[in-house]
Amino acid sequence: MQPMDKDEYCFAYGYNGSYLYCTPNGYASNSLPSEISTLIHRDLIQRIKCVSFGGSKKSYFILYERDGCYYAAWGADVPKGLRDWLREQRKYSELQPFLGCDGSLRVVLGAAGSYMAWNNRAITGQGISPGLQQLIKSWWGDGGWVRGPPQLITLGADGSYFAVSGAEGHGPATYAWNWGSQSQMLQDAWQFLWRDPLFQLDKLAHVSFDPHNTGRYVMVEKCQDGSSGPSVRFVQSVDSGEHELFGLLNRGTGPSSNGMPYSRPIRALNKPCKAKHGGTATKDKRELPLRKGEYLTILFEMSQFWYIARNKEGRQGWVHSTWVTIVEEEPPGPEKLYLAWKAKCDAAFAKGNISAFPELPKAISFCQAVSCTSLKAGPGGLGVCQHDVALLLRGSGKYSYKFLKMERNSWHPDKFGQRCALANREELKKKSEQLFVIYGLLMEIEAKNDI
Ligand SMILES: [Zn+2]
Repeated sequence: MQPMDKDEYCFAYGYNGSYLYCTPNGYASNSLPSEISTLIHRDLIQRIKCVSFGGSKKSYFILYERDGCYYAAWGADVPKGLRDWLREQRKYSELQPFLGCDGSLRVVLGAAGSYMAWNNRAITGQGISPGLQQLIKSWWGDGGWVRGPPQLITLGADGSYFAVSGAEGHGPATYAWNWGSQSQMLQDAWQFLWRDPLFQLDKLAHVSFDPHNTGRYVMVEKCQDGSSGPSVRFVQSVDSGEHELFGLLNRGTGPSSNGMPYSRPIRALNKPCKAKHGGTATKDKRELPLRKGEYLTILFEMSQFWYIARNKEGRQGWVHSTWVTIVEEEPPGPEKLYLAWKAKCDAAFAKGNISAFPELPKAISFCQAVSCTSLKAGPGGLGVCQHDVALLLRGSGKYSYKFLKMERNSWHPDKFGQRCALANREELKKKSEQLFVIYGLLMEIEAKNDI
């Protein structure tokens, strides 16, 4: 099959998770009606012009091109009124009255047996909201199109619609929409497009709603012809076909050599974020693999669901927005924590007569090992294990056997005890002894590593 032309899209969402996405970069599909699969496998479809799925496996419509002619096929379950109308329209097809059809034919199947169908000289519909009916009437006029035939009509599950009139003879196209009763997500997506100060209605290439599920949609902006090649910006709902759609809409526009985006960023962000999960949200190679809990810097907001982020190793890539949490400030790393703790200890030692233990920073506690968590939770303990302490001490930048041995000296219970106020001495000595033991353990490991 040949792909769609530039800025031409068709998305059919169907029964039970089936879909067919047609884009200038190719097609993606899931559990298609068998008749459409057969057409594709027999190589009878050169290019799809219009496809729509109704509420059952046998409710579908497809218009496709082959050798310069258009052909339509529809399933047995499309509403009877539509079937009759489609048969009626065939009479007017002069070239191949029984096989071919008029290329201007469009059919949109909606929820619960609703539909809209039109071509250059006629229109029909059923179960359409009064608002949309009014709108189409204003485009149709008195027995013929005054603003038509429509370039696009898409019907949502809850009475929502998006429609674009034809642009012939009567000025630019008119855009009209209704977000329906439950589509907060749709409105958010719409507002998201408008956050780009350069966005205008005529920059929209396509809008599709899933007629069978609220909140499933895709909105695609036209290609941007820039110095770095064409780019497409789109917003979409999250669903199972998402990574396929993501790949399709961005395929062929390839990342530039420095790995930076080929889509136009919405805005620069430069904000720290924390990874909620490890790995990647999709199979797309452009995604940056995450480690759970790591901190990254979001550089750009690319779409409703995607950022470009950089990790601590300096690698950049796409990151799914639901896989990270934006934080106001990245918590201090081991370097800062060590410096602060060291300063606290130095001050306490200098002052003497210590009555409170210079506690180790809570933020350094990362170790989740079962054997450590129970130890860390114990009463009178330090709240940290040897792994946490190692991480903190590595923040010094001087971590070595020698360094550990020297630092350990200050925590020898007898020596440390002398610096403590008499009233608290025994309790504080116990804590220092724990730390002394941890230093010892770490020294043993370092001694082995040195060999
Ligand atoms: Zn541990």
